[in-house]
Parts: sequence; C-alpha cells; structure tokens
Amino acid sequence: MNQVAPIKADVLIVGGGVIGLASAYELSRAGAKVVVIDKFEPGYGCSYGNAGWITPCFAMPLPMPGMLFKSFKWLLDPESPLYIKPELSPTLISWLLSFMASMTQKKMLRSVDALTQISIQSLKLYQELAANTDKPFSFEQKGLFMVAQSDDGLKYAKQEMELVSRNGIPGKLMLEEEARAFEPSLTKRIKGGVFFSQEAHAEPLQVTQTLAHEAQKLGAVILSKTEVIDFKLGPNGVTAARTTRGMFEADQFVLATGSWSRHIGQTLDLKIPVLGGKGYAIITDPLGPNPQRPMMLVEKKVAVTPRNGTLRLAGTLELVNQDETFTTRRVEAIVRGAREFMNVPESIRYHEIWRGLRPCTPDGVPVIGRTKRYPNMLLATGHQMLGLQSATGTGKLVADLALRRTPDVDPNPFRADRF
Ligand SMILES: Cc1cc2nc3c(=O)[nH]c(=O)nc-3n(C[C@H](O)[C@H](O)[C@H](O)COP(=O)(O)OP(=O)(O)OC[C@H]3O[C@@H](n4cnc5c(N)ncnc54)[C@H](O)[C@@H]3O)c2cc1C
Repeated sequence: MNQVAPIKADVLIVGGGVIGLASAYELSRAGAKVVVIDKFEPGYGCSYGNAGWITPCFAMPLPMPGMLFKSFKWLLDPESPLYIKPELSPTLISWLLSFMASMTQKKMLRSVDALTQISIQSLKLYQELAANTDKPFSFEQKGLFMVAQSDDGLKYAKQEMELVSRNGIPGKLMLEEEARAFEPSLTKRIKGGVFFSQEAHAEPLQVTQTLAHEAQKLGAVILSKTEVIDFKLGPNGVTAARTTRGMFEADQFVLATGSWSRHIGQTLDLKIPVLGGKGYAIITDPLGPNPQRPMMLVEKKVAVTPRNGTLRLAGTLELVNQDETFTTRRVEAIVRGAREFMNVPESIRYHEIWRGLRPCTPDGVPVIGRTKRYPNMLLATGHQMLGLQSATGTGKLVADLALRRTPDVDPNPFRADRF
C-alpha cells in the first residue's frame, strides 16, 4: 500500500465508525480541518449491521441492578441473551469486577440519565440531518414497541417505561388484544407491550455514509485501509500517528476505535477498559405479515427492524476479547426467539448474517473526553449497545471539548479518566 501525501490536520480521528464520522461531521461544521483514518473501509466495523435503532427509551447501561444473579445463570447457558465464556483471563476478570461494582441502583440511575440526555440530543441532531442532507439514510420515526410474552416480561417493560418517563420519554401500555391489533405481525401468544412513540430507526451503513458525505462536503478527508500502529510523542503530548501509510500530524487526536480501543490505548499506556460485546444480526425475507415498526421481544432480547423488502433480527451479547468467530447456535437462537412471537417459517431465507463487537465499558457509559496523560488526545469509545443512537450527540460533545466550547450535555459522566 502506498504512502499518502502528508496532511496536517487540526484534528485527526482514528476510526471511521459511526462515532468517528459523527465527530468528523461536527468538527467540520465548526470549521476544523479534519482527517479520519480507518484500517478497513469506514462504516464496516460494529457500525455496519446493527439494528439501526435511535431510541432514547433504550438508554440503559449494560450493568443493571439484579443482573449479578442472572449473569451467573447465563454463564451456564451458551444460548442466553448475555453470555460470558468462563475463562481465567486477567482482562476479563478485572472488567467483570468493575462491571459488578456498577450494578447499584444509584449508579444505574446516574448512567440512565447521562445516556438518555445524549440520546435525546442525538435524535434531534439526526432529525436535522435527515431534513437537510442530500444523501438520505432511511431515517423513520415510527416508534418502538417493546413486547412481552410473560407477566415478568410485561412487568419489566412497565418498569422501563416508568424509568424513562423520569426523563420525559412517553410510553403507552397495551394489553394482549390491543397490542396484537396494533401490530398484526405478533401472531403468537403475547401478554402485551409498551409503545414508545417518538423513537426512530435508520439503515446503519447509510448513516455512516451520510455522515461521511456531509463531513467531506465541509472539507474533511476520509482515508480507508490506513491503520494506526502507534503514536509519536512530543513535549506537549501526541504529535503524530504512525500508520501503515505514513505519519499523520495533527494538533489534536480523537480515538474512536470501538472495540479495538483497549489495544490501541496500550500503545500510549492508556487504560481503556473496553471489551467486545459480540452480537449478531440476520437479514431475512419479510414475514407474512411483516412488522410495521421496530420491536424488542423482551424475553428473548431480540431486536426486530423492518427494512425495505426485508427484515433484520438482531441480538445476543457475548463478552469477548476481539474474538470475531461466528457461533451458529447463537445465530439460530435469535431466529428461534423471533419465531416464538411472529410467523417465522422454518425455511426462512437469510440474505445476510453479520456479527459485530460492541465496545463495552464496565460501567456501561461511553468514554468521551480528554485524557489526563495527553491533553491533546480525546477518547470517544465504549458506546456498548447504543453507539448509533448516541453518535450525533457524541460527535457534538467531541467537537465542543476539542474546540473548548461549552458542551450541551454534562460531560462529567463520560470523563475519560474515570477508570
Ligand atoms: C447486533 C448489534 C445490534 C446493535 N444495535 C444497535 C442499535 O440498534 N442502536 C445503537 O445505537 N447501537 C446498536 N449497536 C451498537 C453499535 O453498533 C455500536 O455501539 C457502534 O457501532 C460503535 O461504533 P464505533 O464507531 O465506536 O465502532 P466501530 O463501528 O467498530 O468503528 C471503529 C472503527 O475503528 C477502526 N479502527 C480500529 N482500530 C484502528 C486502527 N488501529 N487504525 C485505524 N482504524 C482503526 C475500525 O476499522 C472501525 O471502523 C448494535 C451492535 C450489535 C453488535
């Protein structure tokens, strides 16, 4: 691969996923000269095939009170929605200890508030982007239906409704008949559900392409197949990124490297406790009848997203350390889970099977902010299950911090030096 002509940027962003590209867009809007580099094609990491939800009602951190008992149960079941492969890796053990320490009611409420604020702001920014871009990203605001089969599942959905109503997100409870009439694709036994009317969804790859397109229109340079190996340091911090295609100098740097962040952080002696939360998505033929709107199948933790002419089913979270292998039984568990709620034929055709590693921090809150060690290095990673829905707000926060403007959301819960 050839070297590229040196470009000195105001801000160099490492990682062209939805987080890096949303940051590039906001920084470019503010007039900064931005370069984004990605080791693959931008948009093809975890941001590629996710469920596409932009749903502030789901601004939940991964660690929740009461999960400890469930996690132990799940340890024994490789088909459970959350799976932690028992292994004696020091990285996994220290991450899990920190994860368990975050499962208190107080910490959870603080995290929900922070995640909700950044998700609400993101939704507004997506609405503006959809209204103004010349490259549409299939943005639709059809709400989100959380559907349950059991009394416990419905109780969980109601609790979630009450939790997010504190932050002004309205939900409507529907019991069996009403729920089924509202969403005719629910052909199997259900107890009811909660409908959150203001939530949106989009096509994830198109989101990254739109953000890249809009950033490029404003002058950003986006390079693919350019991998950061390490960094060159000077007396005032980082001076350049050494890549597979030459050195890239910049005044400031943003690490938006998703599940790769821990490894790249090690090259700078930065502790970024991000583990991969492997999940799968399957694009299938449409169902008869096909869902009218995105749905969360509560007991199975399966996300259902209707697409133009097809359907996406997504789910499972398996904590891993950069392990990208496929586990067929976990893929099949998602389809079987969906079949318990909807008319999914045994012979349904898969158009695509995809897996991605969600960048997961142990407290379930992304890391967005300057590092203490290198004042000109910012982190923007660890967005777990919420990276798409909080990307535009993250991009705005990154731009505000990099340009030393007053942020719209409280940056404290996201501080980079909290671990
Ligand atoms: C099954 C599934 C469903 C999901 N559904 C949703 C959903 O509905 N809504 C939602 O909000 N979130 C969802 N998520 C989570 C969401 O996909 C992630 O939070 C988000 O994509 C993370 O974005 P990112 O930019 O941080 O990471 P990535 O998209 O992985 O981007 C990181 C980029 O960094 C690049 N990179 C890494 N190392 C280097 C290096 N050394 N040099 C150069 N480049 C490098 C990579 O190539 C990659 O492109 C889902 C995830 C999964 C797996």
